Amino acid sequence: MLFDSHTHLDDESFAGDRTAVIARAAAAGVHDLITVGTTAASSARCLALAAEYSALSVANSRIRVHAAVGIQPNYVGDAEFGDWDRILKLAGQPGVVAIGETGLDRHWDYSPFDLQEDFFDRHIRLAQQLGLPCIIHMRSCEEDVLSMLREARRRGPIVGVMHSFTGSWAAADECIEMGLAISFAGMITYKKSDALRACLARVPETSILVETDSPYLTPEPVRKIRRNEPAHLGHTVMRLAEVRGVDWQTLAQRTTHNAQQLFLK
Ligand SMILES: [Zn+2]
Repeated sequence: MLFDSHTHLDDESFAGDRTAVIARAAAAGVHDLITVGTTAASSARCLALAAEYSALSVANSRIRVHAAVGIQPNYVGDAEFGDWDRILKLAGQPGVVAIGETGLDRHWDYSPFDLQEDFFDRHIRLAQQLGLPCIIHMRSCEEDVLSMLREARRRGPIVGVMHSFTGSWAAADECIEMGLAISFAGMITYKKSDALRACLARVPETSILVETDSPYLTPEPVRKIRRNEPAHLGHTVMRLAEVRGVDWQTLAQRTTHNAQQLFLK
């Protein structure tokens, strides 16, 4: 029983076979997944998918699709007037289990950084206000993200996840201290990810989540399949278990439990 805590099922690469993709995930043992919005329009599509697939039964397995709503940092530069209001409206709807994805990104530099900070701040405040977890993207800007999280933490409790984590152990450790979970995606299976695996080995078991971040980051050994999908989550789980020296069932159970506690309680 697996929980894919981060996928982009509304992505156009799934347009032709979305139901089959969800059915394959169910067949691969994924019982829950969160489809995460990247723009106001994408967030609305994610919520519609959560409504459509709130309980899909395939053969003997059932799968539930949940939604997260937000504007991803690389897209905040394109946000139009009224988009944030749309997020505010969507955030209160049933089926929404988290706010995001949000965060900061200095790697791609698609959006002005001060605008990214403004939107990150709005997302965190909204999550705190609604008592929902926050899904946080952090790319090449650890200190910027941490300082905004520290400030948020001074205002009140903050729950959520550092998604597709690729940062340092110091950053992971501080996030865990603040009450955030650390989520690992397909990168953990890549040859060059030794530093990330060393970090994974130190994360307390109650703070680990797993995700595909599909359609991106296909894990080994199926990496040559360009479009990733939730059915591939098991490969990442197996590698995680190997790194931590536990059997994969234990890790699957633990990460599913962690995700249920964070998003569905
Ligand atoms: Zn994402």
